[in-house]
Amino acid sequence: MKELKILYLYPDILELYGDYGNIQILRYRIEQRGFKATIEPYSIGDTPPNFKNYDLIFAGGGADQEQNILAQDLAQYKSSIQEALDAGVFFLLICGSYQLFGKYYKDAEGNIIKGLEIFDYYTEASNDRKKRCIGNIVIETELNNQKTKIIGFENHGGQTFNITKPFGTVLLGNGNQFNDTQEGFFTKNVIATYLHGPLLSKNPKLADYIIQYCLNRKYDENIILEALNDDFENKCREQLIGRIGEKKGAIGDGS
Ligand code: GLN
Repeated sequence: MKELKILYLYPDILELYGDYGNIQILRYRIEQRGFKATIEPYSIGDTPPNFKNYDLIFAGGGADQEQNILAQDLAQYKSSIQEALDAGVFFLLICGSYQLFGKYYKDAEGNIIKGLEIFDYYTEASNDRKKRCIGNIVIETELNNQKTKIIGFENHGGQTFNITKPFGTVLLGNGNQFNDTQEGFFTKNVIATYLHGPLLSKNPKLADYIIQYCLNRKYDENIILEALNDDFENKCREQLIGRIGEKKGAIGDGS
């Protein structure tokens, strides 16, 4: 049976606004297609993982304090992470973990948490602790050459600079910085984003995009995923886009 192995980083520390839901959605959508989903958690004190042995690495969000707790632990895996990235393992990073893969995160008091420096972006919070990007957000990205709207919820003080390739264009909400036009960071095998939600429950196409990438890479085949009944998810998307759009001006359908 074909299997996808997921490494779930710091589940006890990085978990905001339902980020764990991403793992549940991945498991559900992998298993519905008749594949096996193996999910292995790693947190401080566990046996060190070899990142290359996984198909997908997931890490959720966490406030400054949580980032402080794990940054040093994460740093010891820099070369293992780099190897996995170079080998094409997929990384899905939300908010706090998105920030930690960059150069650094500077909090509102000016304290610096050193990042992994895997990517060239860096994040700085406003000096005013109360100034945060909070609320529902809709962005548009391209998945397999198809424009797709991605819905989520953002809550971050950090403003991320020096992004070479964003995950999407902001239709509603803030994005990488206050009132930004760009959100997140996107490469062939990395999606780093501020979108909680949980992200994948609100965006089934994105979940399938990631699953398909991982299967095709691992089995070197062009696997076409069987369609699932997403009527409920799509209704929910229409409602959400309608509701968010009502407040800020229409932004079209939920596709
Ligand atoms: N340090 C973060 C910020 O406020 C991370 C927040 C988050 O993960 N939601 O910018």
